[in-house]
Amino acid sequence: MKRILITGAGGFIGSHLVKRLKKEGNWVLGVDLKYPEFSKTIADDFIIGDLRDSHFVKKVINTSFDEIYQLAADMGGAGYIFTGKHDADLMHNSATINLNMVEQCRLAKVKSIFYSSSACMYPAYNQEDPDNPKCSEDSAYPALPDSEYGWEKLFSERLYLAYKRNYGLDVHIARFHNIFGPEGAWKGGREKAPAAICRKVAEATDNGEIEIWGDGKQTRSFLYIDECLEGVLRLMRSGMSDPVNIGSEEMVTINQLTQIVIEISGKKLRINNIPGPTGVRGRNSDNRLMRERLGWDANMKLKDGLKILYAWIAEQVKNEIH
Ligand code: NAD
Repeated sequence: MKRILITGAGGFIGSHLVKRLKKEGNWVLGVDLKYPEFSKTIADDFIIGDLRDSHFVKKVINTSFDEIYQLAADMGGAGYIFTGKHDADLMHNSATINLNMVEQCRLAKVKSIFYSSSACMYPAYNQEDPDNPKCSEDSAYPALPDSEYGWEKLFSERLYLAYKRNYGLDVHIARFHNIFGPEGAWKGGREKAPAAICRKVAEATDNGEIEIWGDGKQTRSFLYIDECLEGVLRLMRSGMSDPVNIGSEEMVTINQLTQIVIEISGKKLRINNIPGPTGVRGRNSDNRLMRERLGWDANMKLKDGLKILYAWIAEQVKNEIH
């Protein structure tokens, strides 16, 4: 049985990770500003607190853990990170969390830490062609992320790698590409494209129309939460420290993503593309390094994951109406 700490355990990926690591028989401590919103946590202990406060972090990591998963960040979808309105907060908040965490891991002699970076750190100039984006791990430099969120991720990747180099901290870094699934933000401004689209479709009346930001030709790939967790655990228990993509290579346009959700719903809906924050024109995971170094790849079809997400969001929408 391992002693495991998950920071950001009240969030989407963190709350799913608690369930997965508990199922494996570990002792799990969760930490977050809030409890998970959509189901009761099954962590052995859960502490509410602010990881920007170094005294709080010191209290939490007062003994060694076998594994720490650092998922806490100030984050959201395009409506949160690409409008420019939250830049100062999200850089300050997430960087402070990571600075506190890594230093306390060093002091407490933590064995191993996982850090969740993002595909948003890849240079914008390699993601202008929607049919041919380049996101191989070795294309990260010269750096030019398209958002301050991406710059903070890049800074923190370098921070963890510096602690490995100078203090021997065992770090594992994933660059997540759009993770989706039930029990994540689906309204309120922080939701990401799959959840936002499922909500719009679930709320729409048959034969109506839904609004989609941008011309809908921008491309992305989406990874279902269970596959993300499988990748995270394989990475954590590998000897690999260099950042690696964890994503799906099934690239679709945002309008295609929307069409899949409409089909799942069984409704007849028109897509109305309107101006809105969209980020880069094209992005797809490049899983070559993941296959080579982790001997594993994601293979769930996007449509299968969306069916699960749509059913969950349709239920939330229904509950809200009643
Ligand atoms: P999330 O917003 O659902 O979870 C993040 C959690 O961190 C939230 O519960 C939040 O309350 C907590 N948090 C924020 N500030 C905190 C603080 N000061 N102290 C304590 N807790 C704090 O996001 P998620 O989708 O679960 O993402 C988890 C990690 O993965 C984040 O680092 C995110 O940047 C990264 N990531 C996610 C995706 C994705 O598609 N979901 C893609 C790329 C990277």
